Amino acid sequence: MMIREDCAALDAADKLAGCRARFALPAGTIYLDGNSLGAMPANVPARMKVAIEQEWAEGLIRSWNDADWYPAPQRTGDRIARLIGAGQGEVIVADSTSVNLFKVLVAATRMRPGRGVILAERTNFPTDVYIAESVAEMTGCELRCVDPEEVMSAIDENVAIVSLTHVNYKTGKRYDMEAMTRRAHEAGALVVWDLCHTAGAMPVYLNRCEVDFAVGCGYKYLNGGPGAPAFVFVASRHLEHVRQPLSGWHGHAQPFAFTHEYAPHAGIDRMLTGTAPQLGLISLESALEAFDGVDMEALREKSVSLGDLFITLAEQELAGLGFTLATPRDADQRGSQVSLRHAEGYAIMQALIARNIIGDFRAPDILRFGFAALYVRHVDIWDTIAALKDIVTSEAWNTEAFRTRKSVT
Ligand SMILES: *Cc1c(COP(=O)(O)O)cnc(C)c1O
Repeated sequence: MMIREDCAALDAADKLAGCRARFALPAGTIYLDGNSLGAMPANVPARMKVAIEQEWAEGLIRSWNDADWYPAPQRTGDRIARLIGAGQGEVIVADSTSVNLFKVLVAATRMRPGRGVILAERTNFPTDVYIAESVAEMTGCELRCVDPEEVMSAIDENVAIVSLTHVNYKTGKRYDMEAMTRRAHEAGALVVWDLCHTAGAMPVYLNRCEVDFAVGCGYKYLNGGPGAPAFVFVASRHLEHVRQPLSGWHGHAQPFAFTHEYAPHAGIDRMLTGTAPQLGLISLESALEAFDGVDMEALREKSVSLGDLFITLAEQELAGLGFTLATPRDADQRGSQVSLRHAEGYAIMQALIARNIIGDFRAPDILRFGFAALYVRHVDIWDTIAALKDIVTSEAWNTEAFRTRKSVT
């Protein structure tokens, strides 16, 4: 039997424990939703104050040059590159994940003329499927959505692109990026990986796995702030061949030449479209300092430790209360979240949030708990499981207020 003191001992031995002070976390709150909106790094407000009061208010248009606003998408992309195993000049920050996915899917399809299939997965985050549907319609391809276990065997010589999300948003199940990419390449297809639930949560080795394209989110484990811009990765070997469809002026070889003919930039800048959302970008750039000096393998080790602890304690404390585990038990098949199913999941999560323990809910019955290893502690896991146990045994969830669905779950 584990007790709370065992969890405190794990925290005392945690080499990353000091990183928690890099975040401004509300007192008395346990935050297990960094997979939806990352916590705010403590250095961000001061940076934003300068950005707003000096660079914007005082510097005005001059700040594109004087405050180095203009190269921020490249600079921030290079910072993210270290976290995802990419090289300098292969990652750029732009737009949202949905928009970047659209750009890379069209670009990749254009690189595989004569192949008619975009292979995707049924249980993916809906926006990924919606975008792929639209790309299929525009490019004359067929979108083939299969179950996660069937993806590998569905890759054949008609497939132009295999488009997958590395870690599933609901179940937390993770694909073997290297094996899947290799299989796709053997069949002559290109791969697009969505790293929304991966980037900042664990190390990724895009170049070691020979990945072609990737996209990901700035506001989840990268902690960039609500609606922070996303990123896009293009392997350097593909850069000169990439023609993305949203050919705006910021992707031009010489945006300020204002020529009538579009000529793509030679490098990763060609993935840009229009002007960056500069304040959101500055917020993301400064938030990334929370990763300074952090060994991503050590981060992963702690994330696994938190996930294993959650599963162990759920089995020890919640047996017979109607919960089932929706996430693989094997850490090698998991991302950085653990999900539980429960028929009353929505109301239970609302009751938990009322106690300042914040996870989230995904229909129909999934309670999600994300473990951002930079700031989540082992005792937080203990306290969360203890609260879940109390909420279910006392039926504290069973009120009108907790059962009523809000618009954002
Ligand atoms: C969070 C998430 C998105 C979000 O896309 P936006 O365009 O930023 O709203 C897309 N795909 C996956 C898999 C996600 O988890």
